[in-house]
Amino acid sequence: MDPEVFRRYGKEVVDWVADYLQNVDQYPVMSQVAPGDIRGRLPASPPVKGEPMDRILADFRDIILPGVTHWNHPRFFAYFPANNSGPAILGELLSAGLGVNAMLWQTSPAATELEELTLDWLRQMLDLPTDFRGVIQDTASTSTLCALLCAREKTTGFRANESGFAAADELGTLRVYASQESHSSVVKGAKIAGFGAENVVSVAVDGNFAMSPADLEQCIAADLLRGLRPCAIVATVGTTSSTAIDPLVPVGRIARKHGLWLHVDAALAGSAAILPERRFLLDGVEHADSFVFNPHKWLFTNFDCSAYFTSEADTLVRTLSILPEYLRTDVQVGPGGKAVTDYRDWGIQLGRRFRALKLWFVLRFYGAEGLREKLREHIGLAEEFAAWIKRSKHFELLAPVQVNTVCFRCAPRDAHGRRLPEAELDGLNRALLAEVNAAGRIYLTHTKLRDRYTLRLVVGQSQTQREHVVEAWMCLRESAACRHLLSEG
Ligand code: PLP
Repeated sequence: MDPEVFRRYGKEVVDWVADYLQNVDQYPVMSQVAPGDIRGRLPASPPVKGEPMDRILADFRDIILPGVTHWNHPRFFAYFPANNSGPAILGELLSAGLGVNAMLWQTSPAATELEELTLDWLRQMLDLPTDFRGVIQDTASTSTLCALLCAREKTTGFRANESGFAAADELGTLRVYASQESHSSVVKGAKIAGFGAENVVSVAVDGNFAMSPADLEQCIAADLLRGLRPCAIVATVGTTSSTAIDPLVPVGRIARKHGLWLHVDAALAGSAAILPERRFLLDGVEHADSFVFNPHKWLFTNFDCSAYFTSEADTLVRTLSILPEYLRTDVQVGPGGKAVTDYRDWGIQLGRRFRALKLWFVLRFYGAEGLREKLREHIGLAEEFAAWIKRSKHFELLAPVQVNTVCFRCAPRDAHGRRLPEAELDGLNRALLAEVNAAGRIYLTHTKLRDRYTLRLVVGQSQTQREHVVEAWMCLRESAACRHLLSEG
């Protein structure tokens, strides 16, 4: 592309993104297309000749955009957020422009050193232990996989890496412990790392959906009696369904007592620990060998950016390092005789994007105080929504609100104040959710808690204000009222 053409369309695209972010609330939050609609409007075979940018951008607007669900819409309350911000997008654009592969220090010293620095800034903001060193992974799933690989290698004296399945009989069956509410990435990671899904022990949760340390202790004791080999615990700070907080202090003590690797998955809720008044969420993290949270979820840094920390950097590098001749460099040590970091040894993939740039832009543009202010706002809005639910005769909370996630359902009462039968509530809430989402004003998703169909509202979008949460409440109430569920209208 000619530089002048690039300049022209670059300006047009930046203008488009600025307008988009300003007017994103004009779109239906959830894409309204049917399966196959988008593909059906695009040619089945690749273009033989190049096409003008005008036509490509027109198709982006006319064909692609209707098939987009707007994750950065202020009324997006689904799943966990993937929020972004102006500085993050600009950092991402520059990173794409530079197009560096940050696999080795030498392949882009600034990318490596900025990654070390920004992760250390995050470490300080979260008040993580000083011996924690950080790396940016693509996702929390990958971070958890790295943790499980390290746990496997540490437990087996790095034998599994060397001999693979051949060593399995000798090494004994390795076991991983995670709560019933832990994220599916734990089982996925255990499958990939060779533990096997059957060897992920599902630890019971308490009334607040947090891991029960007593049950954890019992599961480990039962496995030891059976001759199995406990290896790792994955604790969750902010479970996906309800943002439950596993108690890291007792869980950490159990990990220490049995010499197990403790990985803490704080994918969403870790961000909240930058608030001094919420830092208690991470009490006990000093027992952890590894820890992950995603700035791409709730720290205004667009996807992907997962911050993985470990106090066992040597184990991580020994687990993942392979050095073929073509990756050797003469720079074994950097300026002042200090060893340089080659981040290729810190993750699964070799090639790596310059993701630290967008994170650096975000941290500098907002500062710790600016980020804290935004998170406080989100938490306050979630708490306010929960208070409306509590006050309503026809809705009920299904879990405590720990940070920014509200779990609830519509549970209408009849004229005598009696709740509808339990058996009818799942269907009713499923229908309610489908209706509000199809209308396109808001987007919520669901889970199951104690086998009950549960609606979730997560406040985490960069542009979400009180009026948007009010609108969510109105949409839910109006939809329930139209279905003649609410006697109070
Ligand atoms: N862990 C928890 C607690 C999550 O909620 C999620 C996703 O929502 C993940 C891990 C996976 O995150 P990622 O998409 O970054 O792999």
